[in-house]
Amino acid sequence: RKPVPSDIVISRSCAAKSIDSLAREVGLFSDEVELYGKTKAKVQLTIIKRLQSLPDGKYVVVTGITPTPLGEGKSTTTIGLAQAMGAHMKLNVFACVRQPSQGPTFGIKGGAAGGGYSQVIPMEEFNLHLTGDIHAITAANNLVAAAVDARIFHEATQSDKALYNRLVPLSGGERTFSPIQINRLKKLGIQKTEPSALTEEEINRFARLDIDPSSVTWQRVLDTNDRFLRKITIGQSIMKYTETTSRRGDPITTEDLGVSGALTVLMKDAIKPNLMQTLEGTPVFVHAGPFANIAHGNSSILADKIALKLVGPEGFVVTEAGFGADIGMEKFFNIKCRYSGLRPHVVVLVATIRALKMHGGGPTVTAGMPLPKEYVEENFNLLEKGCNNMRKQIENAKHFGVPVVVAVNAFKTDTEAELDLVCTLAKSAGAFDAVRCSHWAEGGAGAVALGEAVQKASSAPSNFKFLYDLDLPIADKIRIIAQKIYGADDIELLPEAQHKVALYTKQGFANLPVCMAKTHLSLSHEAEKKGVPKGFILPIRDIRASVGAGFLFPLVGTMPTIPGLPTRPCFYDIDLDPETEQVNGLF
Ligand code: ADP
Repeated sequence: RKPVPSDIVISRSCAAKSIDSLAREVGLFSDEVELYGKTKAKVQLTIIKRLQSLPDGKYVVVTGITPTPLGEGKSTTTIGLAQAMGAHMKLNVFACVRQPSQGPTFGIKGGAAGGGYSQVIPMEEFNLHLTGDIHAITAANNLVAAAVDARIFHEATQSDKALYNRLVPLSGGERTFSPIQINRLKKLGIQKTEPSALTEEEINRFARLDIDPSSVTWQRVLDTNDRFLRKITIGQSIMKYTETTSRRGDPITTEDLGVSGALTVLMKDAIKPNLMQTLEGTPVFVHAGPFANIAHGNSSILADKIALKLVGPEGFVVTEAGFGADIGMEKFFNIKCRYSGLRPHVVVLVATIRALKMHGGGPTVTAGMPLPKEYVEENFNLLEKGCNNMRKQIENAKHFGVPVVVAVNAFKTDTEAELDLVCTLAKSAGAFDAVRCSHWAEGGAGAVALGEAVQKASSAPSNFKFLYDLDLPIADKIRIIAQKIYGADDIELLPEAQHKVALYTKQGFANLPVCMAKTHLSLSHEAEKKGVPKGFILPIRDIRASVGAGFLFPLVGTMPTIPGLPTRPCFYDIDLDPETEQVNGLF
């Protein structure tokens, strides 16, 4: 067999369909589609109403064993499976994936368009700016940060009356409230719309948010792995927003800051899913891009909902939940499915022989080193031991009552006997089925067996259930995830986390789901512990609230919320060809 060319060479050599013809093919009307050049389009949300009475297709989530630096190929499998079902099995199918962050693209991992003959194309568009959604989110986020800071500054130097006069300025001799200010008055219980009608006490209450600078959690963001942002603190002329709360202990909203309308404007296009295609011309929605270790790691609910209608009741939507089943999949079920009301039919759990061997005690690898022989030669001992991690992740998926199909993503050095062993062990661990696939080397044709297994599993009885009830106390929800999914003996709430439990409970946020910020490299909080760690207590350092997004996020162990760049980031290889204007060096 010929060697597989680089991802970008494959991506570039494919003659993509024009995106408007793909849009027509999947049943979108021309007035629902906003073209961004020839290969990308946004879909207007009016479509939700048009399709609302139609039945949904089948919903498949792709997850994996605990990741290792050797890579498992979840994105590649998501795309390969969609290509198999769409281009080879002739089913209606959509892949719904996240937009990559520039952090990994320019850092260690590279892009996230899939790989080999299973990719979203054009991969350089997908991996870089796409349609600007991440810039819009960055701008909106940082506008809030600036608004908080400005408000603290102005309140520190002005009387209530002076603040009020500036917040409700004279225009043509009269003062008028903006609609956002009227909303704030309502929130304060002041049923007045005429500025002149406010009493002195009401003016004071309206004007001053009284933000406690030491309790601001709103952070500045940047779509780059930039360690600098880890070190910023407030009150020393540089800022750190921990949690935005007034001195009275009330949460502050963007409406209180008067910035909610401007944020909506900044985000008006980012809210629309982006349509792209795979190498084999099947449709892909790319929408939202959260990491799975510190955020929930899933693409948008809107894209999945639209795709489920477009594929129809016999069709399939394949979406990816980032990192291992303990991270992205747990959050997919407990957070995303809870909010969407959608019920998944099948879990696809991706495993590779090499990653399983690392879980079985194989040597650690660092970028740029040749692979140790354990990973390129047959080794049943390491493989069999490492399959414990797969077994635990199958068990994790089964906690939710959904059938699991294991996809063994084959590398060219894997032996037949090794691939067979993993499939056998997966089935004995309770997987509905386990199949090897070769979509990286062969495209969709290499994942037809996987597609057929998924189709069969989608009709198997499923009994979906959440892992925890929302009305449990915050600590109980964390403990359930730690014990059932990670295998911890217990959790330990450190003092800051205890303080936050009390605060969020008082503020009325205790019934939110929890989004654990934990290393993805181990089932435990210690990245170097491979396989199935036992006998550990999970330390919860702090808990933060993303109330708008709808979850609390406990920080586990030393997990940082912003990654850093390595010594030799991927950006060393990236450049623009001055003749052709092609992007070189992306992978
Ligand atoms: P994940 O989504 O699990 O992080 P990706 O799908 O992004 O992993 O794949 C990681 C890297 O491994 C990519 O560069 C991809 O091209 C490569 N890869 C995936 N599967 C294979 C395979 N079977 N053989 C060789 N390389 C592969």
